[in-house]
Amino acid sequence: MDACARDVDREAKTLTELDAAIGDADHGDNMRRGFQAVTVALAEESPATPGAVLTLAGRTLISSVGGAAGPLYGTLLRRAGKELGDAPSTDLPGLRAALAAGVDGVARLGGAAAGDKTMLDALLPAVDALEGGLQAAATAARQGAVDTLPLLARKGRASYLGERSVGHQDPGAASSALLVAALVEAVGD
Ligand code: ADP
Ligand code: MG
Ligand code: MG
Repeated sequence: MDACARDVDREAKTLTELDAAIGDADHGDNMRRGFQAVTVALAEESPATPGAVLTLAGRTLISSVGGAAGPLYGTLLRRAGKELGDAPSTDLPGLRAALAAGVDGVARLGGAAAGDKTMLDALLPAVDALEGGLQAAATAARQGAVDTLPLLARKGRASYLGERSVGHQDPGAASSALLVAALVEAVGD
């Protein structure tokens, strides 16, 4: 979560620029506000297990971010935390199960599918690729985000633009790629 907060802070301007093209120019600010709140909450409560960390982080994102991304990422982290349970640590299969549960939560909450030009277009390939290792997941998420460029948005604010959403990378897919890369960097290889 520290690595996520750091990278979100560093890339906030880029995320907001992407959202300026096909949304309302607040994605970087939403993400920065959310992860700053996560940093504070984790410092205050010092949860003892990976599952408890993710559950608190998810709850904090839901309560601190007004935009669509807050509840969606919040749900992802809460579901992932629930999947990890109270285990003191996890391994690659455990991490994959947690991420898969979280991403399933995003799909259920937002009703989006692959190809709808949302964060799922980075997250779903990352879950699939995680079987091949952490670096493969980070690469798949980055590629998935880039591949949203030619897509027509079918969910969220960008869908109001119809054809005009084509030719821009989805901001949520870009932030998902960033978060997966931070996760991979933090947990090592
Ligand atoms: P808002 O659109 O409310 O301003 P943000 O700008 O923070 O919220 O987040 C926008 C991103 O949220 C989009 O780029 C997209 O990836 C993601 N998103 C929006 N709606 C959905 C949905 N129904 N399912 C999955 N992701 C979504
Ligand atoms: Mg926005
Ligand atoms: Mg907004």
